[in-house]
Amino acid sequence: MVDKVRIATTSLAGCFGCHMSFLDIDEKLLDLIELVEFDRTPITDIKTCGPCDVGLIEGGVCNSHNVHVLKEFRENCKTLVAVGACAFNGGIPALRNHYELKDCLEESYINGIGIENPQIPNDPEVPLLLDKVHPVHEVVSIDYFLPGCPPSAEAIWTFLNELLSGQEIVLPYTALHYD
Ligand code: SF4
Repeated sequence: MVDKVRIATTSLAGCFGCHMSFLDIDEKLLDLIELVEFDRTPITDIKTCGPCDVGLIEGGVCNSHNVHVLKEFRENCKTLVAVGACAFNGGIPALRNHYELKDCLEESYINGIGIENPQIPNDPEVPLLLDKVHPVHEVVSIDYFLPGCPPSAEAIWTFLNELLSGQEIVLPYTALHYD
């Protein structure tokens, strides 16, 4: 029996749209499941990343927990892939980088419209926000970048097929245009 490739996935500061696009490969998931097994993913609900062949990272890095998870993936995954715009340039969450963190917090929890009982959350259980949202390659080294918001199911399927079979990764134009 052929050893299966072990894959972990996570969403840092992302919207899970990239994960949903992954699920959009539909019936090809049945082909994929013949080749891979899953470690930490939102599907398996495993909370820590163990030794893996491939780690797929959705989302940018906005808080201390994201940093911890990303470093854990880098330590455990032979190949680490930044999936989607938020992972490789911060995406939508990085729009807050135009403002000071203090101003973002005050607008969200003190001065915004409709806020009752204004106070900025300060519980040790809540991960500390970083001053800015960072793309993942500013925190750990990344082996591949898969663009798109989200990358299409076709792009994800092509990428995984080529990666798992050891081919050079060549995504067709149809998988990489966004109009
Ligand atoms: Fe969501 Fe797009 Fe960011 Fe993926 S790249 S997490 S789809 S906003």
